[in-house]
Amino acid sequence: MTAKKAEKKSAAAKKSAAGVPKTRGAGAKSPAKAAGPRAKAKDAGLELEPERIAELLRRLRAAYPRAECALLHRNAWELLVATILSAQCTDARVNMVTPSLFKKFPSPAAFAEASLPAIEEEIRSTGFYHNKAKSISGAAKRLMSEFGGKVPQTMEELLTLPGVARKTANVVLGVAFQKAEGVVVDTHVLRLSHRLGLTRAEDPKRVEEDLMRVIPRDRWIAFSHEMIHHGRQICVARKPRCADCPLETLCHAADKTWSSV
Ligand code: SF4
Repeated sequence: MTAKKAEKKSAAAKKSAAGVPKTRGAGAKSPAKAAGPRAKAKDAGLELEPERIAELLRRLRAAYPRAECALLHRNAWELLVATILSAQCTDARVNMVTPSLFKKFPSPAAFAEASLPAIEEEIRSTGFYHNKAKSISGAAKRLMSEFGGKVPQTMEELLTLPGVARKTANVVLGVAFQKAEGVVVDTHVLRLSHRLGLTRAEDPKRVEEDLMRVIPRDRWIAFSHEMIHHGRQICVARKPRCADCPLETLCHAADKTWSSV
């Protein structure tokens, strides 16, 4: 399995394991003549009113004013490598591995010249290390041959790198280059987007498209970080801490553990 497929499968598998819930009302039959975007969204169990979205964003920002990427890195290349390593692995585990990895291989050129077993040895504890080593080595080689040793700054170019799908590309573009080309959809963003009635899509790419439609572009980067923090701290997969949630009065998820609305 390629790392790109692994990235997609990872999100889908985590979503499945987490039992992505349906929002209340999902699947309800619509009045025959209910039409228009708002009526259709409501029929689909979505809650996309602009006022509600604005309030969600306001509360998320207030709750996580300094939310940022948790992967340690000193430049775009290190962030790219760390993001590849984070597939089906915690950021904390990746952060334990990368300091010695980047000491041993301090540049894309060093990674391009390294043998696969040498890279594998360093990243073994992050899991799926054969595929991850192949992706990192392949990305380093392509960076050297096609991009002058520098991480490209467009979605199109990033997607040509082995092991890089939209999630990784969005992380690199947003965090390293402050470019909002999309919304990072990881397991937390996927789960929370369902609970909050922002999408009913299952495929991460479709989820991203739905989010790009309802979230203003100037909030795409911060929104991802805030949702990931919220998913780790409050809206966890099992037994979300709804009594402590600043979004509670806006949330109608079917698996809420406490409700005032
Ligand atoms: S109220 Fe509960 S389910 Fe809804 S966003 Fe908050 S923690 Fe998640």
